[in-house]
Amino acid sequence: MDSSDEFDVIVIGGGPVGENAASYAIAGSDRTAVIVEHELVGGECSYWACMPSKSLLRPGQVLDTARNMPGVQELVGDKPLDVEAVLARRESFTHALDDSSQVKWAESAGISVVRGHGRISGEKTVDVDGRTLTARHAVVLATGTTASVPNTPGLRDALPWISRDATNLHEVPRRVAIIGGGVVACESATWLLSLGAEVTMIVRGSALLANAEPFASELVATALRDRGATILFHADLQSVSRPGAQDTGIGKIHGGAAHLTVGGETITVDEIVVAAGRKPASSDVGLSAVGLEDGKFVETDDHLQVPGLDWLYATGDVNGRAQLTHMGKYQARVTGDVIAARADGRPLSGKRFSATADHRQVPQVVFTPLEVASVGQTEKQARDAGVDVEILGVDIAVAGSSLQQDDYSGHAQLIVDKGTDTLVGASFVGPGVAELVHAATVAVVGKVTLDDLWHAVPSYPTVSEVWLRLLESRRE
Ligand SMILES: Cc1cc2nc3c(=O)[nH]c(=O)nc-3n(C[C@H](O)[C@H](O)[C@H](O)COP(=O)(O)OP(=O)(O)OC[C@H]3O[C@@H](n4cnc5c(N)ncnc54)[C@H](O)[C@@H]3O)c2cc1C
Repeated sequence: MDSSDEFDVIVIGGGPVGENAASYAIAGSDRTAVIVEHELVGGECSYWACMPSKSLLRPGQVLDTARNMPGVQELVGDKPLDVEAVLARRESFTHALDDSSQVKWAESAGISVVRGHGRISGEKTVDVDGRTLTARHAVVLATGTTASVPNTPGLRDALPWISRDATNLHEVPRRVAIIGGGVVACESATWLLSLGAEVTMIVRGSALLANAEPFASELVATALRDRGATILFHADLQSVSRPGAQDTGIGKIHGGAAHLTVGGETITVDEIVVAAGRKPASSDVGLSAVGLEDGKFVETDDHLQVPGLDWLYATGDVNGRAQLTHMGKYQARVTGDVIAARADGRPLSGKRFSATADHRQVPQVVFTPLEVASVGQTEKQARDAGVDVEILGVDIAVAGSSLQQDDYSGHAQLIVDKGTDTLVGASFVGPGVAELVHAATVAVVGKVTLDDLWHAVPSYPTVSEVWLRLLESRRE
C-alpha cells in the first residue's frame, strides 16, 4: 500500500460535521486526517441548507420590520423585494456552488481532501472508488442525510423540487404547493411568500412544526396565513400529474403545471416543493461490511462511537440524534477530542468527551415570520418524561419589543421542573427572538434554579425583559 493512502483519521463526508471532526482530531498534533467527499466540501449546510435558506429569509424579515416602522414604512410602501438582488446575495453565500475556499481551509488546517464516494470496506479501511485508504486510529462517518420523496402516485415522475431546489432557486414559481409542515416546509413557505409566490401547504397532520409547543405552531400558521399562505391540514395527497415534467436543472421550474389531487380536490400549481423529511445517507457507505445495517441512522454512544467497533464513529445528521448543524458540530468536537485522547493514550475523563447536550438540551431556531426559538423539553415531552411540570407563559410585550417594531406580537413559555425548581425547557415566538434562546440554553444546561434566575437582570430596554415578566408571573 502507498503510504499516501494511510492516515490517522479518515472522515467520510466533508460537511460541517466532517470538517470539525477532522480538525479537532488532529489539532495540535502531528496526526494526519483525510476527508472523503463525493460532492462539495462544506456539505448540505453551506450550499443547500442553512446558509442559502437563511440568506433568502433575512430580506423578508427586514422588509417586515420596515413595514412596521414609521419613518421607514413610508419609504418601502407596498414595494416587493428585489428578487434578483436577493438571489445574488444568496449566491454570495453559496459561492455559486464552488467549494474551493473550503478545500483551501481544510488543507490549511492540515487535512487532506480526497474526492470520491467513500465506503467502509472492513476494519479501519475505506474504499474510495477503487482506492483503499487505511486509518491508524479511527474512521468517522459524517455523511448526513438526504431528502425523502414519498411514493405518492405520480409525485416522483413530476420531478418536484426538494429543499435543494427551494434554497437554490433561480426562478420564482407563481403558484407553489409545499408538501409537509415541518421546519423546512415552513421556512420555504416563508421565503417563497416574500419572493412573491402563492403558497399552498399540504400538511398531513393537524399542526405545523409538530414537535414545537402548540402555541408556537398556531402563531406560525397565523403569521403564514396573514402573509397569504393557504394551509391545508389533515390533507391526504392522493396523486400528482404533470404531463410536461422536465429536468431543467436545480432551482429552475421543472416543466409545465402540476395537478395535485388532495382529498378529492385538484390543486394546480407551477411547482411542488417536497419537504417531507430526511433519510440518513447510510445506504451505500459499507455499513454491512462491518456487521451494521445499511440505510439506517447509525446508533452511537455519547462518545459518538459505534458500539462494539472502537475505531468507528458516526457523527452529525447520520446518527439521527439531532439534525442541526450546531449540534452536529458539537458532536464533531466531542468525536475529535475522543479520537485525539485515545490516540494519545489519555483517559476520557471530563465532560468534554460526552455529547450529553443531545439529551433534552438541544436548542433550535425556526426562521419563520415569527421566529420560534426553543431549547430542551416541550411541556408534553417533560410530562411524558415524568417531570412535575410548572408552566410560566406570557405574551412578549416589553419596552424592548415595542421598540423593535410596531404591532410586535409574540409569546414566551418556560417549562420548570417543580422538584428541582430548574428550567427544563423554554420556547420563544416572535420577531427577532432567535437571540433569546442562548440564555435559556445556558440556564437549562447549567440547571440554574428560578431563584437564581431572579438575579440575572435583563437589560432595559431589550426583548430579554420578557425573562423578568416570566419570573414575575410566578409571584402573582
Ligand atoms: C433546507 C434546510 C435548512 C436547514 N437549516 C438549518 C439551520 O438553519 N440551522 C441548522 O442548525 N441546521 C439546519 N439544517 C440542517 C443542517 O443542514 C444539517 O444538520 C447539517 O448539514 C448536518 O451536517 P452533516 O455534516 O452531518 O451532514 P451534511 O451537511 O449533509 O454533509 C454530509 C456530507 O457528506 C457527503 N457524503 C455523503 N455520503 C458520502 C459518501 N459515501 N462518500 C463521500 N461523501 C459523502 C455529502 O456530499 C455531504 O457533503 C437545515 C437543513 C435543510 C434541509
